[in-house]
Order: sequence, then C-alpha cells, then structure tokens
Amino acid sequence: MAEFGVIGLGRFGARTSKELLDLGHRVIGVDSDEKAVEAMADVLTHSAIADVTDEKALEELDLTNCEVVLVAIGEDLQASLLCVLHLKTIGVKEIWAKATSKSHHQILSKLGVKRIIHPEEEMGIRVAQSLNYPMVNEYMSLGHNWFCVEISIGEYLKGKTLDDIMPDDSEFFHVLLIKRRDEVTVTPSLSMTLEGNETLVMAGSLKALKSVAPKLK
Ligand code: ADP
Repeated sequence: MAEFGVIGLGRFGARTSKELLDLGHRVIGVDSDEKAVEAMADVLTHSAIADVTDEKALEELDLTNCEVVLVAIGEDLQASLLCVLHLKTIGVKEIWAKATSKSHHQILSKLGVKRIIHPEEEMGIRVAQSLNYPMVNEYMSLGHNWFCVEISIGEYLKGKTLDDIMPDDSEFFHVLLIKRRDEVTVTPSLSMTLEGNETLVMAGSLKALKSVAPKLK
C-alpha cells in the first residue's frame, strides 16, 4: 500500500483516484472547486479544497510523503505548470502530470516531470488498435518497436500447434504464456497443440506480430 497525491479532481483525476483506492492505496485529493472535492470526499483518504498555484497552500497539504503526486489539471496550463514548480520546490520527489498539448508536454518535460500522460491520445491509440485487431485484448509497448500483446483465440485454431502460427522471422516473436480456463502454461513449447478458446500472451517486433495476425483470425 502506498500513498498518492492527486491534484485536480476532474474526470481524469477522479477516475484515477478511485482506481488507486480500489487497488488498496491511500489517496490525498485536492481541487480548488468545492463541488469536485465534495463529490470525492467520502472515498478519498484525505481531501482538501485548495488553489495549488499558491505555494503556501500546497505546502500545508503535506504531500512530501507521497510516492507520486499526479497533477491532473489539463485545461489550465498556467495552473498545471505553477503547481509542478511548487511541488518541486517543496520537495516532492516524483511528479506525474497530464498534458493537453505539445507545448504543455515540452514544458512539463523540461521541469523534470517523470511521466507525462495524454489521456485522449493514449485512449485514441488503444481504440484504433482494438479496431484494427479486434482479437487483441491488451497491448503494451516495450520500446524499439517491440510489443507485448494478449489475444483471445477461437475454435478455428483447434488442433494447430504453436509452431503452425510462428512467423518466418521467429527470433523476433515469442509466446510467453497460454491461459486455458484457470490453467496457465508459461513459455509453452512449440509442439503444444491449441484447443481453441484460449488466451495467448505474446511478445515480438511489430513486423513479426503483424505477420502472425492473419494466422490468428
Ligand atoms: P478533466 O478533463 O479530467 O475533467 P480538467 O482540466 O477539466 O480535466 O479538470 C481539472 C480539475 O483541476 C478541475 O476539477 C479544476 O477545478 C481543477 N483545478 C484547475 N485549476 C486548479 C487550481 N489552481 N488548484 C486546484 N485545482 C485546480
């Protein structure tokens, strides 16, 4: 269990706070809008109505023990940047922030923000990926054009082995695990026969993953 600070309890900040609380963490939520704080006060570990552009007010919130403070103010660029600056001054070690534009991103990055989130853009990419490959449940970028993907396969692959679905450039493709009902097989052998209706977790280069996709449809 860790403690997190969430500044700005709009849709993004409120939803992130709820998820963190559900995961068993402590969350200090702050917003200058009384209504936004009231709506979350019952579920948050601590809540406060404060204008975070005011360094003194921010200091009184005692956020220095938080593992990460998330600045979830998107629209008001000045408030977002001032808040990050003040958090740095009062000694908050790790700051994550939401950005709404390229210049917002650039300044946050220069200020040393560890992770900059573009919720709409990230969600847009995810939705496009799911539309493109409907069988992909989850995917994660590993950098250098490598991805880890989780896919669900249907009856049509029953009787095939993993070897049957391997791409030509197999050194850039790995099946990490297969899940059947409650049973998980880690790093399955290529001779393993598929039953259909399984979940596969694979890692590979984008090129290799794309060449495998038609075999999984
Ligand atoms: P979303 O799209 O997630 O709703 P917004 O940028 O619209 O994001 O909302 C950000 C939240 O941050 C709002 O609830 C707003 O009241 C709050 N906020 C904006 N400026 C300040 C500030 N100076 N101090 C504290 N909270 C602020």
